[in-house]
Amino acid sequence: MLDVAAIRRDFPILARQVRGRRLVYLDNAATTQKPRQVIEALVRVYEQHNANPHRGVHTLATETTDLYEAARAHVARFINARRAEEVVFTENATAAINLVAHSWGRATLKPRDEVVLTHMEHHANLVPWQITAAETGAVLRFIPLLPDGTLDMDAARRLIGPATRIVAVTAMSNVLGTINDLRPLIDLAHEFGAVVLVDGAQSVPHIATDVQALHCDFLAFSAHKMLGPTGVGVLYGRYELLDRMGPFLAGGSMILKVEWERSRYNEVPWRFEAGTPNYADAIAFDAALDYLEALGMDAVREHEVQLTAYALGRLAEVDGMRIFGPPDATRRGGVISFYYGDIHPHDVGTVLDYAGVAVRAGHHCAQPLMQLLDVPATVRASFYVYNGRDDVDALTDALTETAKVFGYAARTRAG
Ligand code: PLP
Repeated sequence: MLDVAAIRRDFPILARQVRGRRLVYLDNAATTQKPRQVIEALVRVYEQHNANPHRGVHTLATETTDLYEAARAHVARFINARRAEEVVFTENATAAINLVAHSWGRATLKPRDEVVLTHMEHHANLVPWQITAAETGAVLRFIPLLPDGTLDMDAARRLIGPATRIVAVTAMSNVLGTINDLRPLIDLAHEFGAVVLVDGAQSVPHIATDVQALHCDFLAFSAHKMLGPTGVGVLYGRYELLDRMGPFLAGGSMILKVEWERSRYNEVPWRFEAGTPNYADAIAFDAALDYLEALGMDAVREHEVQLTAYALGRLAEVDGMRIFGPPDATRRGGVISFYYGDIHPHDVGTVLDYAGVAVRAGHHCAQPLMQLLDVPATVRASFYVYNGRDDVDALTDALTETAKVFGYAARTRAG
C-alpha cells in the first residue's frame, strides 16, 4: 500500500490552501502535481549542466547530452522497449500521435484504406486522423461502445479486416475510465497486417506498461500526467517501423548531411527531434520515473483500484448522481465522470472550487463522446498517488453543499 501522508510531504503545492481550504487536487487526468524531487532535478539542470545537447564538445554540452540520453534510456526501461532508440521525445502525447499520423500515415495510407478508431478517443487521437484521412482518401471507422462504457468487441471483429491499415486506440478512456483489453484488438489487427497505435496518455502513468508483452507498434504518452514536467511527450515505436518513416518536422539535428538541394536524414530517434529539444524537462522527467519506480507501479495501480472503488461507492450514495463508465473498479482507472442532478458541470466545478476541491468540468476533449452520452459536459474527478479517502470524502461533502447552493434536493444517504 502507498503511504499517502508521506507522499503528500513530497509535493510542495499540496501544502497550499485554496480559498482558505486544504487543496484537494482531483484533476490528475488533466495534469499531475510535481514532487520536490522533479522540481529539484529541473533546477539542477539549469544551475549545473545547461547547454544545447548533441551540438557542442564542451563539458556542459557533453553532460547535458548524456543526461538527455540517459532519460531516454530510462523511458525505454520503464515501458520495456527493446532499445532506447525506440523512444522519441516529443512535446506531448498529442505531438506523438500527430507524428505517426503525419509521417507513417501520409506515406502509407491510400484511398479507401481504413483507419480504425473507437468512440472513446480523445480529440488528440481523432483529429490528426481526420486530417490525414482527408489528405490521403483513407476512411475512418469507429468501434462503438457497449452501454457499460466498454468497447463492443463483436463490432471490432466485424470492423477490423483486410482494408484496415492502422488501429489507433486509447488504453484508458479519459472520460469513462474504461481500461481497454488491448491484446485481442492488437492480435486481430496484426492478423490483417495492420499496425496498432496505443494512446497511453491515461494508462502509462497508472498501470505498469510493457510494450513487448502488449505487442503494440506505437505508444504515445505525456510526462506531465505522470509527475513529470510539462512540454515532454513520448512516442514509442517499433524500431523497424520508425526506421522506415520519414521525418515530421525538419531542421537542425534531424539530418546527417545537408546539401543545397537535398538532405540525408539522421538515424532514429533523432530523425524525429528537429531543433533544440526540451532537454531540461526530459532530464527532470527521469526523476519522475525514479519516483514512480520507488513507489512501484503495481502499488500505484492497487492504490487507485481501492480508492476508485471507495469513490464509486461514496458517489453512488449521492442522490441525483449519474456516473459514467464501468461500475467495476478493477476494469477502470482512477477517473470518474459524472453528471449531478440538473446542475451544469461548470457550476458544480465552480462550487467545488470554493471547498478547495479541484475537478475538471467540461467535454474533456471528447465532444463526440459527450453527444453519445447525451450530456453537454461532465464533472470529472481523477486520482493519483497523493490522493486518499479524505479527498473523496471532501468531494462528496462539497457535492452536498453544491446541491444546497442550487436548491437541488440531493443529499447523501450516508449523512
Ligand atoms: N489522450 C488522452 C486519452 C488524454 O487524456 C490526453 C490528455 O488529456 C491526451 C491524449 C493528450 O495529452 P496531451 O494534452 O498531454 O498531449
